[in-house]
Amino acid sequence: MDLFQELLEELRNLSEEDRAKKLKEMEGDCVCPICPTYEDCGKGENVFCITQKSSCVDMELGCLCPTCPLAQKYKIGVLYNFYCHRGTEKEQREG
Ligand code: SF4
Ligand code: SF4
Repeated sequence: MDLFQELLEELRNLSEEDRAKKLKEMEGDCVCPICPTYEDCGKGENVFCITQKSSCVDMELGCLCPTCPLAQKYKIGVLYNFYCHRGTEKEQREG
């Protein structure tokens, strides 16, 4: 199991409330809101690598994920990225 899979496992084992709290902390690292591809759907969407793809991004204009502290810490964002449009890291790994 790699670092990112361990993170998903950790999140899976948390209560809904603690999971939401942890995701909220991760939002602090997520650079999506300043990315050229990002579209604000008015729902505060971010951390697409873990949550789900965006409900309004429909064009890829570059991806800042490789520069994200969370991506660097958990070693994601290079092989797979554009999570807002292509789906989560897990979804992309599973093809
Ligand atoms: S890897 Fe991308 S989607 Fe995930 S937190 Fe970082 S910037 Fe956001
Ligand atoms: S997932 Fe990548 S492409 Fe999408 S908004 Fe975040 S940084 Fe930009």
